[in-house]
Amino acid sequence: MGIAKKIENALSRSSWIRKMFEEGARLKAIHGDENVFDFTLGNPNLPPPPQFKAALLETVQNLGPCSHGYMPNPGYPFTRKAIADQVAAERGVEIDAGHIVITVGAAGALNVALKTLLNPGEEVIVPTPYFVEYGFYVDNHGGVLKTAPTRSDFTLDIDAIEKMLSEKTRVVLINFPNNPTGQVYSQESVDALGRLLKEKSERFGSPIYLVSDEPYRKLVYDGIVPADIFKSYDESIIVTSYSKDISIPGERLGYGALNPRAGEKKQLMDGMIFANRTLGFVNAPALMQRVVCAIQGESADMSAYARKRDLICGGLADAGYEFMMPRGTFYVFPKTPIPDDVAFVNALQEELILAVPGSGFGGPGHFRIAFCVDDDTIVNAIPGFKKVMDKMKG
Ligand code: PLP
Repeated sequence: MGIAKKIENALSRSSWIRKMFEEGARLKAIHGDENVFDFTLGNPNLPPPPQFKAALLETVQNLGPCSHGYMPNPGYPFTRKAIADQVAAERGVEIDAGHIVITVGAAGALNVALKTLLNPGEEVIVPTPYFVEYGFYVDNHGGVLKTAPTRSDFTLDIDAIEKMLSEKTRVVLINFPNNPTGQVYSQESVDALGRLLKEKSERFGSPIYLVSDEPYRKLVYDGIVPADIFKSYDESIIVTSYSKDISIPGERLGYGALNPRAGEKKQLMDGMIFANRTLGFVNAPALMQRVVCAIQGESADMSAYARKRDLICGGLADAGYEFMMPRGTFYVFPKTPIPDDVAFVNALQEELILAVPGSGFGGPGHFRIAFCVDDDTIVNAIPGFKKVMDKMKG
């Protein structure tokens, strides 16, 4: 009775990822950590690159009298500049510190962008499957989440998105490299999306914004180059973080970058800075802003994730699972051998393997494995994956 009906309702259908994580803790208490194979959480298990620790030590040793104080809401000017310079170098755009708001992770940046853009009842279109928290974030700001199917290989289906667009659409929210599928969008497909949004924005008489959630951008395999949305569409915002590529998700540092070619630039930036403040973040963590300023361009050891990808995908393929080889992230999203993905995940659990049903991501008939775990966990889980597949095949 104490809490709001909306939260009560949200709690009852709350994230599968969290549910499975809690189930994992229960099973580990019974069977011991080493006997439970937990693939539920996208918590990077690699240490941050050595430059992170060096920058942290250096920062701590050189703190000034106001180093722990409040600062301008979008972040320290020198860190905003360092981020803008990095974005400029990586994307070949002219962008300065005035286009950057430093946030509490990519999650903070998403909420900042959505709060800035959405009027009550306006729609946010998201290709499926998608990061489950999007539904809650859109709802935080009075928006309505609408899902658009993707193609069988989880690439963008531009026709499907076109069918969803209307005067009510305010934002199209994409995420690549994608959680949960590991798909990475090509420049051609994002260009096609940009053309579509431009045409519809003109037709409807107000801009539809493209928000691209890219915390896995540096986690790509086989030399793949992810698309650059700034090249595809002017009315665009990138949201991202250092959570996955630097392996510091608990430190909560990310940023939003506004396309320097967006119209209404000043208003959008003022809105995002106001949102960062009034969502209660005030500003992103001060110490981490100083640290990431010094290590722009660094990233976790991708060869370790590539090895883990090959281990898990090799084992799954041998066991008879069908899946798209992830092109980025540390997730793989195989088909379940039976239509009921929840029943399948429960069967895996009997072998002490924890994974998340695809339904949790709007992708039923699949399950997600987060392979950011020890190599031993992967190797020792393979017989269990095989046993369940054999049982299902009957
Ligand atoms: N977006 C996606 C697609 C994610 O997978 C995650 C975290 O798992 C986030 C955003 C949130 O990232 P952060 O921890 O930087 O807030």
